[in-house]
This record gives sequence, structure tokens and C-alpha cells, in this order.
Amino acid sequence: MKVNFIFVLTLFLSLFAMAFEPFSEKDKQIFRFDLKKNFYQNEDEYKTDLLKGKEIVSKIELHKGKVGTSAKELLELYDLLNEYTSVYYRLYAYGEFREAINTKDREAIENYYEFSSESESKMAFIKVELKNLTEEKFKQFLKEEPNLQKYSFFINDTVRKSPYYLSKEKEEVLSKLSPTRFEWESALFQLSFDRTNFGKVLCDGASYEISQNFDTLMKCNDRNIREKVFKDYFKGLESISDLCGFALYNLIKSLNEEAKMRGFENEYDESLFDSYLKKDEIENIFSQLEENVSLYSDYQKFKLENAKKAENIDSPEIWDLDVTLKDAKDLRFTASEAVDLIKKALSPLGEKYSKEIDALLNPQNGRIDIVGGPNRRQGAFCEAGFGFFQDNFQGYLSDVSTIAHESGHAVHHRLTLLYRNGEMFSQGPPYLTESFAMFNEYLLRDYLLKTLKDEKEKKGVIYDFLNEQMYLWELARRAKFEMVSYDEVSSSKIKDGNGFNDVCVEVGKKYDIFFDKYPQLKYIWLRKHHYVSVPTYYKNYVVAQILAMKYYELFKKDPQGFSKKYVAMVENGMDREPEKLLKDFLGIDLNDKNLLKGMFPLIKNNFDELKKM
Ligand SMILES: [Zn+2]
Repeated sequence: MKVNFIFVLTLFLSLFAMAFEPFSEKDKQIFRFDLKKNFYQNEDEYKTDLLKGKEIVSKIELHKGKVGTSAKELLELYDLLNEYTSVYYRLYAYGEFREAINTKDREAIENYYEFSSESESKMAFIKVELKNLTEEKFKQFLKEEPNLQKYSFFINDTVRKSPYYLSKEKEEVLSKLSPTRFEWESALFQLSFDRTNFGKVLCDGASYEISQNFDTLMKCNDRNIREKVFKDYFKGLESISDLCGFALYNLIKSLNEEAKMRGFENEYDESLFDSYLKKDEIENIFSQLEENVSLYSDYQKFKLENAKKAENIDSPEIWDLDVTLKDAKDLRFTASEAVDLIKKALSPLGEKYSKEIDALLNPQNGRIDIVGGPNRRQGAFCEAGFGFFQDNFQGYLSDVSTIAHESGHAVHHRLTLLYRNGEMFSQGPPYLTESFAMFNEYLLRDYLLKTLKDEKEKKGVIYDFLNEQMYLWELARRAKFEMVSYDEVSSSKIKDGNGFNDVCVEVGKKYDIFFDKYPQLKYIWLRKHHYVSVPTYYKNYVVAQILAMKYYELFKKDPQGFSKKYVAMVENGMDREPEKLLKDFLGIDLNDKNLLKGMFPLIKNNFDELKKM
């Protein structure tokens, strides 16, 4: 009897597993990179390209001692840099793609690392010598050599920072000491996690380590497990908060000291300057989100209500937030369906954009690699306009959304390359380039909502869309925590690592209804390694999300008119400050006191519709 039961169970499980297959047998073969077709036919071609890169660097080195001496010289130098950037990206993408599909195949990526670090140090003189180029002199150069205009953003980008450079000797000492000042913190942070036992739990028959699977476990069907995971996890965070706080405090203090030497108020200030953002703009965004936080609070309460209904819970708690939405159904798409869907969803962006999407996503072209397998890297990434990698496409909406996102990066690079004739012109601050990718995710959901017929599927998509939009408040809470931390370390209000717990609560209360009830949330900042691994970066996620939402708002008002202007901005690439680019092409002003005003009704409509369902 027992054997029979197991047999039936196995049969049932295998039938169940067969129910959805993201790739047909043929698709499994073609949704992979064709590196020969897109990069090098053979090893010789690859070696020649590597050599070509080195030759360009040698030519660049001939400019040593002469940078900015004449308009002609400067143009020659930047033409070479433009050439260099194209080779650089090709070698990088080739190395990365090879390693991503087979993590043991590291030869090309190692070659690239060597090439890149050697080149960087050989070309460091450019930055130093450009210091002598004044604004007036550059204006004069532009008159003599109008072709320099296309590089003016990149030249100005270096020149604007020159007042903040210290003497050559000081710069050398600082960069030499940089690893010992800024790298141990992130190592200590990680070490604290690694040597802490957060405990293990069983959920739906499988055993999970709590720290690494916190998000998954918050969706566990067993409520007692969720509660235990939440409490144990935060106990674990508390136990390492002193060490992690010590690391973060010292990191911020050292970064602030150096920034002050350069003439900035603190490191955060410098990071804003580097990415062409202003403190008022960031504060403008935070304050508008805080003024409208009731929208987010209602959403948090809605999630508690959902838990009440879905699991018959009397008084839901924070660990019930991620209970599956009642009466909603998850969508699944095969790879081919996903490609079709994305093409349709992005078609409003016009012919030019669609042409690039078609070419990128056509599996016959070998520019995308999304079939899972052994020895593959995790996650997804895009390299310039060549294509993108995704570790294991399983057909969930989030997987399809990743394709839409990475396609946004690739097409941005392609359009700019075609229009401006150089890879360097698509480089820009991360919040801008990320916003192009995120906007595609919005268009994908917009299209699904317009076309889906099944009520339960539609409900799933609306909820997913809403989660995406509401995530903005969570991002802002984290980014603001970081900004306030820099200010308070700088003003000595924070005197040691414990100070971050207070900032976390103080900022948290402005954004999140749970900070009053659950005192352990003061340690939630420890969940983000970004603060120590990529200091001051978090604000980029907030600005990118705001921009993507803003594009969506403008798109909804006038799909055709907006799309034309938007694609024109994307292909234009960097030729002026990002702030100006947004204003000139789309009329977006990051300082506008009503910047987010049109977005809140969009979010609210989405939310109201979900509540009705
Ligand atoms: Zn991205």
C-alpha cells in the first residue's frame, strides 16, 4: 500500500511539475548567447582587439604634459578616449558574458581586469592636467574647434571637480591609503553576519537558515514560523548591531573627513555633487513623500486586513504582511510568450525603439542568455548594448519584468550609440540610466492591465504593480536614514555606532506605521549592506524610481507625444547636465514642489481598484 501511495504521489508531483515549462526543447537551445556572432569569430580576433585597446592607450599616453594646450590637441585626445571606451565595453561585455554562463571560464574577464586597471593608471594624468583648463579657455577652444562640442559634457565633468582636487602628493597618499580606510568596514560588517547563528526553521517541509531566507520565510504558510523568524532574526541583528554600527560609524567619519579636506560639507554632499544632484532636490522628494505617507500607511493596513481574511487571523502582526493576496492568481509565461509580450508592451515607444527591442530579443541573434543551468552566475545584468544575462528564467511576472528592465538598459545604449556614434555618450548618473530600465517595467504592467481578461490574474498584476509603486516609501526611508546619518556624524550628534539605531527609529516613524509598535525595528538598517559596500548610493534607487513613475504619469496623459520626447532624450545621451536633460526634453524639474503631485492619484487609483476587487 505504502509503495503504491508513494508511486501515486510521485506521479502526481511529476505531472504537476510538467504543468509549466518556461522553455520548449528548441527554445532551450536558442535562448543563449552566441558570442562568436556578436563578439569574436576566433581567439585571434579577440587577441587583436585586446591589442587594439592597448595601442589606443599608448596613443593616449603621448598626450602626457600636453592636455588642454590647444583645441586640436584636446579633440584628438577625446577622439581617442571615445575609441578606447568602445573597445573597453566590448572586452568587458565579452569577459562578463563568458564568465556569467560558466563561472569557471574566467580567462577573458581576468584579461579585462588587467587591461582596465593598467589603462586607468596610465590615463590618470588626464584628470590632473585638465585642472589647468579654465572655463574661458574652453569656450575659446570651442570656437576654434566646433567638433569639440560633442565632448563638452565630459570635459566639463572633469573640470567642474578640479577645485576640489588636492595637490598631486596629497591625492597620491589618499588613494594609496584608501583601501585601508574604506574597505575593512564592509568586511567587518559581513564577518559579523557570517559568524552569527540566526537559527534555522522548517517551513513547508524544507529547512531554512533564517538570515539568508528572511524574505522567503516571511511568506511561509505557518504563522508561528513567521513570528519565530521575525523575532529571532531581529534578535540576531541586535547582537551584531554594536560591531556593525562601529564599522559604519568609522566609515562615515573617514569619508566625511576626506570630503571636508576637499571643501565639501561632508561625504554625502560630495556624492550629491558628483551625481549632479542638490540637497534641496533630495529633500524636496523626501518631504513630498512624507506629506503623502498616509497613502503608504493605508497600504500597510490593507496588507494586514488581507492577512486577517486570508488566514482568519484576529489581530494580524508585522509578520503577517506578506501573506498571499486573497483571490489573486500568479501569471506564468514561456520565454517566447515573454518576448512577444514585451515587444507589444513597449511598442508605444515607437518604431525606432521597437526595432532595437526586436533585434535584441530575437533569440536567433544570440544576444540574450536566460536558460538556467550549472555554473551560472546569479541575478541579471546587461552590458552596454550587446545584450543581457539572466540566471534562470522561470516565467513569473518578476522574471518577465527583469527582461523588460535589462532590455531598457540595452536599448538605451544601442540608441545612443547609433545617434552619437560612441559608447561613452550613454554613460550617465545611475539614477538616470536606471530610470530608463524601470520605466519599461511600468509599461509592461500597464499593458497587462489593459489586456488581461481573467479577474484573478488581473488582481495579481494590480497588486504587483501596487507593491512596486509603494516600494518608493521603503526606498526613501532607507535613503533618508543614510543622509541623516552622514549629517549627524558630521555634526557629532551621532557619537558612536549606537547612534544609527536612533536615526533609524526617528526616520522610520515618518514613513512606516510599525516603528511605534515593534522596538526591534531600530535594527532594520543592518539589513542593507549598501551603507558599507556602496556608501551614499541608496539615493539613486529613490530618484530612479521617481523618474520612472514620472515618465509613466506623463506617458498616461499623452502616450504618443511623450514617447517621442522620451526616446529623443534616451538616444541623445549625455551632452549636458542630467538635470538640464530632464528639463529640456521632458519638462521634469527635480526641484518642483509639485513634482510628485500627479503620481499620487495614479497610485491611489490603482489601490482603489484593488480594494474594489
Ligand atoms: Zn538596472
